[in-house]
Amino acid sequence: MIDRQIRVRLLGRRPRPSEPLSVTAPFTLTETRTGTQFGDTQSPLSGVTVRPASSAGIQLGEKLIPSDDILLTPSRDAALVLADKTYRGAMRIQRQGDGVVFTNHLDIESYLRGVLRGELPRYFHFESFKAQCVAARTYALYCKREKPAGTTFDVYDDEGSQVYNGVTMEDPVSDRAVQETRGEVAVYHDGKSEDIFCTYYSSCCGGLSQHVNNVKPNDPPVAPLVGGVACNDCYVAPRYRWGPETLSRAEVTKRLTARYPTIRKIGTVTELKPRKRTTDGRVISIEIVGSGGQREVLVGEDFRLSIGSRVLKSTNFQIETTKDGFVFKDGKGFGHGMGLCQYGMETKARRGMNYRDILAAYYPGSTVKKLYD
Ligand SMILES: [Zn+2]
Repeated sequence: MIDRQIRVRLLGRRPRPSEPLSVTAPFTLTETRTGTQFGDTQSPLSGVTVRPASSAGIQLGEKLIPSDDILLTPSRDAALVLADKTYRGAMRIQRQGDGVVFTNHLDIESYLRGVLRGELPRYFHFESFKAQCVAARTYALYCKREKPAGTTFDVYDDEGSQVYNGVTMEDPVSDRAVQETRGEVAVYHDGKSEDIFCTYYSSCCGGLSQHVNNVKPNDPPVAPLVGGVACNDCYVAPRYRWGPETLSRAEVTKRLTARYPTIRKIGTVTELKPRKRTTDGRVISIEIVGSGGQREVLVGEDFRLSIGSRVLKSTNFQIETTKDGFVFKDGKGFGHGMGLCQYGMETKARRGMNYRDILAAYYPGSTVKKLYD
């Protein structure tokens, strides 16, 4: 029996000081770790403020719950409204220091209904929705399996994992893609056994997919993720080519140190030198030289994410150093470029390819398998 529950960490990486919550159906309230129920079935809640209590426990509006880790399970689906978004399943609320953390627990098939439209525009072809759905299902199950013991969630609700907006972004097309691919995942055979893998995908590869270890040095370099898939199909993407983007030295320094505080010791960033590139020009590693002459080396993708994933749309760019800053130009592609290319997928779907063949093209050596009915 496959455990299909996905735990989605909502609203960012840091605990929130407070958030408005409504529960539009009666619900039970339990202590998450012990399963002990607090009182009888609770009445619906309308726009109460969830926050840490002044001593121990969590405050649900006026009501003090004497626990730092509670689970709200509504008697009806899609009855949770947190910060203006509606969610299916149950909600775990944990107190962490001066804030609270929200995690949505739900069946993976329900989760996917809230993912697809966050990842694809509505006008995309139905076969694209199906391919995206299989990739998203496999990705979530892989994250769930690989999470270190003790972690309280499997995926984030943003680009760090997959964009998830709950019921708010469900629609009939994505619902149908979820139904028609129910239980289907991408697998590969390593010679001994068949297994799922981390089905990375990004918006537009710019012409060639890249090796997983360029971005994630510690991931297993399984056959479907070794890159080198030529994609002549994503030229339709709005960000197939991008730039120039100009940033001052001060801005680059500020952004890098916000993510990597240790970089502060090198002073103001004066030079950026790509050390290693892929054959098609992606920066694999980059040297950052500071005003005192000290230097640090970062993985190209980590550098990109710290500068801003919407400023540096990919790691495929040239750098021009100016008197007081840097110009990033000749950019190609949008996203990390591993695995499936969403705009390439769309062109292939419009050309008549079905979702299974699209997935096999971007994850070489993989096939689609039904894990459960
Ligand atoms: Zn592409």
